[in-house]
Amino acid sequence: MARRKQTLFQKRRERREKRERDKSIVFRKKFCRLCQEKVDFIDYKDLRRLEKFITERGKIIPRRISGNCARHQRRVTFAIKRARHAGLLPYTTK
Ligand SMILES: [Zn+2]
Repeated sequence: MARRKQTLFQKRRERREKRERDKSIVFRKKFCRLCQEKVDFIDYKDLRRLEKFITERGKIIPRRISGNCARHQRRVTFAIKRARHAGLLPYTTK
C-alpha cells in the first residue's frame, strides 16, 4: 500500500519534471523582476516593493513562484526580515 503510494508520487514527479524541462526549452523561465529593473539595493522601508514579495498572510513568496534570482531573493528576504523587525511588516496575520 505504502509502496504503491510512493510509485504514484514518483510518477507524478517525473511527469512534472518532464513538463518543466520541456517548458525551459521552449521558453525561458520567469525573468527576475528586480534584475529587469536593475535594482541593486532593496530598502527595508520600501514597503510598496516588499509587499509584492509577501503573501497576504505575510509570508515570503518562495523564489520558484516569484521568479526572483538567488541574489535578489536573498536581498528581498533580508529586507523583509529587517522590516519585520522594525515593525513595518507583520510576521503573520491571522
Ligand atoms: Zn535578480
